[in-house]
Order: sequence, then structure tokens, then C-alpha cells
Amino acid sequence: MRTIDHWIGGKPTASTTHRVGPVYDPATGRQQAEVALADASDVDLAVRAASEAFVSWSQTSLSKRTGILFAFRELVRARTDELAELITSEHGKVLADARGEVQRGLEVVEFACGIPQLLKGEFSDQVSTGIDSFSFRQPLGVVAGITPFNFPVMVPMWMNPIAIACGNTFVLKPSERVPSASVLLAELWAEAGLPDGVFNVVNGDKVAVDALLGHPDVAAVSFVGSTPIARYVHERATQAGKRVQALGGAKNHAVVLPDADIDFAADHLTAAAFGSAGQRCMAISAAVAVGDAADRLVETLRAKAAAVQVGPGADSTSEMGPVITQQSKDRIIGYVTSAEGQGATLVADGRTIQADALKDGYFVGPTVIDHVTAEMDVYRNEVFGPVLVVLRAETLDEAIALINANPYGNGTSVFTGSGEAARRFQREVHVGMIGINVPIPVPMAYYSFGGWKDSLFGDTHVHGPEGVRFYTRAKVVTSRWPHSETGGGASYSFPTAN
Ligand code: NAD
Repeated sequence: MRTIDHWIGGKPTASTTHRVGPVYDPATGRQQAEVALADASDVDLAVRAASEAFVSWSQTSLSKRTGILFAFRELVRARTDELAELITSEHGKVLADARGEVQRGLEVVEFACGIPQLLKGEFSDQVSTGIDSFSFRQPLGVVAGITPFNFPVMVPMWMNPIAIACGNTFVLKPSERVPSASVLLAELWAEAGLPDGVFNVVNGDKVAVDALLGHPDVAAVSFVGSTPIARYVHERATQAGKRVQALGGAKNHAVVLPDADIDFAADHLTAAAFGSAGQRCMAISAAVAVGDAADRLVETLRAKAAAVQVGPGADSTSEMGPVITQQSKDRIIGYVTSAEGQGATLVADGRTIQADALKDGYFVGPTVIDHVTAEMDVYRNEVFGPVLVVLRAETLDEAIALINANPYGNGTSVFTGSGEAARRFQREVHVGMIGINVPIPVPMAYYSFGGWKDSLFGDTHVHGPEGVRFYTRAKVVTSRWPHSETGGGASYSFPTAN
């Protein structure tokens, strides 16, 4: 069995212990590799490599850092297909979707190539007679990234290109279900000329996460994953005095108003609910149909869900692949069954996939459930599978109130022909990322990505300008260069400008 090791200090590194976990191909249900699971001593090795590398990397000129970022960008671009194939084989999503994920990650690298501009400080001339003030930002030190299974390339790349461009060194703990892409990214960083120890990968589970959260030499932690673990990481890391941003789960609503183009809305909702088998933190999992939009919307969704091509991600005719594990499949089917038991109406039922070729993989078909209410388990929990529930509201106000009562606040969208309704929606919902006739409003790399409420713990969103702020801290310098003959004049009262 192939073993996927760590990447520490610029080279593949085996664990000091022999704990391993299985890596499956979700399309077939077969184990394809085992991944090393780090313990505290492996994590310490990686943090020490990163600490040593920080000494010179933090002093490396902006133009040298930028040169490496440009080279990394070219290498990732050239190896996109290979990265996409790794994603598909371990995650299951279709290849076109995997290529899209690499592209969105690359956009963060491109943003980070502009780091000389992004790190510019401010300068105020003559704040007092003969005195100038200026600010600049410096890196934090060793920073850690802990990432989920659903975006093996994009989510780590929300973090490491910006952290590294800012002069930090990085320890990535990817999801143990999809470890290979991170190791390939480490190879590409090395090929781009990044010095050993600046980017490290420790594979592992809770043991590795806890070791990072407790390590005194880790200055900051970026986490993306489910809400209970995000809350835990935020609490533990802040208690340990670290800077932390922890992005959690989601329940993303799309409101469909009666004046919307129903066919357009249903088309986009189907893609947003079932793309990547619903395993996106920005997937639409709840449609809120307002007034007489409901019956028309549900009938259109029924037809569109039935037309989705389900199959292995590597098959170019597939539009939707499997979910990540057998446990995920069982959990998703459990929520569908509970909704049926609690009085909802199944419009499209993906619990059984008939095709023989798919029977060993973790496939769940596109599922649409109507007449769901806010009390049902399928609505109250993040299902994270290809399940779209439909709730009905009388008015836009009622739809907004429903969204605002939900504990999550990652993404949401509204489908309407009315600018006035859209503007009211964008101003009144308590959600971080909003789409107007756009179902998955993932911000471009030069904006920052982040939700509200239980979808993000911490103060800063990821990538974009807030990413640069997260990975640096500010200094303000007040300077005077007196003539040697001037001297004296010191005052014992608090300094004020003159
Ligand atoms: P997860 O929370 O199970 O795992 C995320 C990371 O935490 C992994 O690296 C994992 O090894 C580690 N981990 C798991 N259990 C842990 C524990 N008990 N203690 C310490 N560390 C632990 O999430 P997942 O299943 O890999 O990913 C899916 C989740 O991520 C969904 O909830 C999804 O909404 C969320 N997500 C959110 C965003 C966002 O931007 N808000 C983006 C992608 C995914």
C-alpha cells in the first residue's frame, strides 16, 4: 500500500510513529493509499523547520519573494490537470469542478504576486515640527493552516500564498481524507525556489491539530472546517494566545421571489445544490420560495434534478460525483429519511442509485424535498450532501427573518427582477457573502472570503486585503533627525504636535 508522508524542511518525511489512516477512492469505495498521521513530535519537527526558515525568509526582499510567487503560479498552472486528477481521485468531485477549484486557488497566488503593493505603509510628513510618522507591517512568524476535505487545493491556497508572501513560514495540516494534493503543492513550491522549511505539510488528525494549537512557536492559526471544530480551534488557539481565524459550516439559503425568471433560478439552484455533490461550504442547501413562486419552482427543480448525470468524477460525462465517505452517505440518507418522517414531501429521492457501476461507491442522487419547515432536522443541521430543501414564505420580509434566525451566515442569494427587493435583501440579511441572481457568490481573490455568526469565529476573513492584515502586524514609527546644534527642548508633559 502506497504511503503518503509529510513534507518537512523541503523534503518528504516519514512519521516518527507508525500511525496511518486510510485514503479511499469515493467512486469505488476502495482504499487506494494510507496517509501518515502525525503525532506531536512530527508537528514539532515541522514547526522547528519553519521557525529556522523564518529567520532568513522574513528578511528576504520583496522582489525575491515575488519572483518565487510568479514561478509558483506558472508551475501550478502547468500542473493543473495533475492536481485536478489527485483531487478527483481522493475527493470524488468531477474533473471540471476540480480544475475550477485549482483556478480559484491560483487567483489567490496571483493576488499575492502583488505583495509589494499590498504591504505598502503610510507616511505622514511633518506631523510635528521636524518629525515624520510612518507605518509598515511585518510577518508574524510560523503560521498554521488546518483545512477541510472538500477543497484539497483551493482552501490551503486561500492561506499559504498570502502568508508566505507576507514573510511568514507555514505549516499546513490538510484533511487526512485528501492528503496528496498538498504534498504536490509542496513540491511545486520547492521547484519554484522557495527555501526549505518555508512551506511544510504535516498529515494527520486531531492529534496533529491539538499539537499545532498548543505549540508555543505557532503564532497564528487559520482553520476551515465544520462549525463544532471551528469553535474548538478558535477557543483553544485564542487561549494559547494565538491570532486565529476559524471558518465553520453553513446553511446557505436562496430566496426566489415571484418576479424571478423561474427557469433561470431553478437551473442555477440545481447546479449550486448538486455541484460537488453538495459538499461546498457555499452550496445552496435551502431554497426559500416566496408566494406563488413555490409550485412553479418545485416542478422545475423536479425535472432538473432528474436530469443530473451522476457518475465517477473521472468520467467526463458526469456532472456530479460521489460523497466523501460511507459515513457521509449514511448521514445524508438519514436526514432525508427523517424529513420524510417529519412530514416533508420528497420531490426527487436520491437515496438509492440504481446503476450497477455505482453500487460500491459513496453515491447519493440529487434530492429535492418540499414543504420543509424550520423545525425539521434536515433544515436545522448542515447536511453537506446533494440535498436541496424547499421552504415556503409569504413575503420577502418573512424570508429574510428566516435567514436571520438561522445560526449560520456564510452565503445567501436572491433571485428577483426587482432592484429594490435585491437592495433590501443585501442590506438586511445577516450573512457575509451575498449573491444577486448569482447562486454561489464566492468573492474573487482580491476581496476577502468569510461568513458571519457560526460560519466564522475570529475577526478577519480569509484572503484578499483581510488576509494580508491577518498574516502581518503593524508598526508605526515616529522619527526626528535633529541638527546636531539644536539639542535640548525636551518636555516632561505628554508629547503633542507643535
Ligand atoms: P472537519 O471539521 O471534520 O475537519 C476540518 C479539519 O479539522 C481537518 O483537517 C480535520 O482533520 C480536523 N479535525 C477533524 N476533527 C477534529 C477534532 N475533533 N479536533 C481537531 N481537529 C479536527 O470538516 P470536513 O468534514 O473536513 O469539511 C467539511 C466542513 O467544512 C463543512 O462543515 C463545510 O461547511 C466546512 N467548510 C467551510 C468552509 C468555509 O469557508 N466556511 C469552506 C470549506 C468547508
